[in-house]
Amino acid sequence: MEEDFKDLRVSDLIDPEVDVWDFVNVNTMFDQVDCEVILRIPRNNLDSEDIPVWQGHAKGLFTVNGAYKLTRMLETANNTEATTNRHQTFKYNQIWSIDVPKKINHFIFRAIHNRLATTDNLIKRGVIVPNICSLCQNDSEDIMHVFYHCRISREVHQNIQVNNFTSRVMDFKELFSLNGNRLPRDVFKLWIVCIWDISYQRNLIIRKKPFKSPMEIVKFGKDYLERHIASPKDLRSLQPP
Ligand SMILES: [Zn+2]
Repeated sequence: MEEDFKDLRVSDLIDPEVDVWDFVNVNTMFDQVDCEVILRIPRNNLDSEDIPVWQGHAKGLFTVNGAYKLTRMLETANNTEATTNRHQTFKYNQIWSIDVPKKINHFIFRAIHNRLATTDNLIKRGVIVPNICSLCQNDSEDIMHVFYHCRISREVHQNIQVNNFTSRVMDFKELFSLNGNRLPRDVFKLWIVCIWDISYQRNLIIRKKPFKSPMEIVKFGKDYLERHIASPKDLRSLQPP
């Protein structure tokens, strides 16, 4: 508590003339959130003594242990709320409603459930491999690196005018959902096909086969979607070249 507020009493926040909260005083001394909470507290008409009370203790006494527990409780509540919001906003039919060959819908489904054979997943399953990104050979490899942070992916994103988010994106599910909401439908589809092809190029690199540059991945994505619109059935068995 600020030194100036050390001797502050609840009665200092009440207008004695009309016996209601002194709106100006409360607004001056507290930030907006606290201010709104204070102004919602009903006035106590009992003629009781004004004493400091700590809400985190049954008897109203402040303890460091009590403050620690309260902090942990609020953190857990915030994390649960954030997780719940993320899961509530995600609709799984978003995956299947994208008009691309079904194998790409399946690929996205596996990516969203983190079921791709990225290095971190292989290590979790006991496979002994160096944890290094096959595309850039520069960072450890997990799904968010391959499709979001990797310089190869970033170059693909730049070429299809999809900027990365400035704030932290938690996982591929959130990335998919955010892009689905913000991108025009044709750009979103191109992003999906490019992601699929990035994964395919990664596998080619592992097998020491020739692979595409980021520009070629984008070109492939555009051509692929054009052919899909022209003749969707012809693409059922086509793999990225
Ligand atoms: Zn990389």
